[in-house]
Amino acid sequence: MKAFEKNIRKVEPYVPGEQPQERVIKLNTNENPYPPAPGVTKALEEMDAGNLRLYPDPTAEVLVNALADFYHVNPDQVFVGVGSDDVLSMCFLTFFNSEKPIYFPDVTYSFYKVWADLYRIPYECQALDENFRIVKEDYYPENGGVIFPNPNAPTGIYLELDQVEDIIAHNQDVIVIVDEAYVDFAGRSAMELIDRYDNLIVVQTFSKARSMAGMRVGYAISNPALIKYLNDAKYSFNSYTMNQTSLVCGARAVEDRVYFEEGIRKIIETREWAKKELADLGFEFTDSKANFIFAKHPKYEAKDLFEFLKTQKIYVRFWGSRRIEQYLRITVGTREEMEALFAAVRKYIEEQS
Ligand SMILES: *Cc1c(COP(=O)(O)O)cnc(C)c1O
Repeated sequence: MKAFEKNIRKVEPYVPGEQPQERVIKLNTNENPYPPAPGVTKALEEMDAGNLRLYPDPTAEVLVNALADFYHVNPDQVFVGVGSDDVLSMCFLTFFNSEKPIYFPDVTYSFYKVWADLYRIPYECQALDENFRIVKEDYYPENGGVIFPNPNAPTGIYLELDQVEDIIAHNQDVIVIVDEAYVDFAGRSAMELIDRYDNLIVVQTFSKARSMAGMRVGYAISNPALIKYLNDAKYSFNSYTMNQTSLVCGARAVEDRVYFEEGIRKIIETREWAKKELADLGFEFTDSKANFIFAKHPKYEAKDLFEFLKTQKIYVRFWGSRRIEQYLRITVGTREEMEALFAAVRKYIEEQS
């Protein structure tokens, strides 16, 4: 072994869902099946490549202001980044510096563990109960910070806001991050608690409900003090995280509330219909409030079904990790995509019997 090896920061990276380059029915990474708001297309058409010679606005003002307007907060309560992964990673770096472990659920977004390892933050996973629900009391002991998604991923289960508030209220000596990647499909956001708890950060993304995963835009809403700490860390890292194109397109997307709400309505409608179809096919699943369904079939191995679907050019997500070995996570696509999925599942079931 080379002497320098011992000083290398070695990490086991997060493994993203596959992004096949051939045409498939893609239900594996919770992207939105519908295009972004029409204003985004227009902004791209009107864009002048000549402007790319300039650095983008480091304060990301157009996007920050658009988000502040949309959520009725002040611009100094908004932090933006390159997808919420960037925002969350920056939050870990900025706020989780205690010697005590941070807490997050055992079945959750697997990136939390990766950032904790990367930044050498001690952590402890709190087990979800047998119905995959967060047990709020598990977050009462003294800790170095708390993070959980709401709805949780990959379970899709939405924790009612009074329970979210209870966790925040019991952790006022540390920062609590609520990762709301899917909240637009679910219910009330913890954003309404921002003024009451100075330890709360709410993180959201353009990747799911706003159909812009390819643009990489995420944001945090909090009080001005915590947002300032985030910006200080960002400026110490890379002043220009957000490129000009994302700033403009992001702002255009936020301005179109009608399109946004209609898109969410369609996904929820398809999700609830898909649950009925899955039940008819014998699947068991959590009551997901997100844009995916977390399902298992009592008769078939998740891995086998996953592999079979792939041969049919239908991609869903499978981990095979502890507690969720038999589960598949199926993104809610268009009605047509879901029909194709169910046809393929029927074919699989017929072949097995
Ligand atoms: C998708 C997702 C994110 C990250 O999304 P970005 O594309 O980086 O904005 C963060 N948290 C959870 C729980 C997610 O599912």
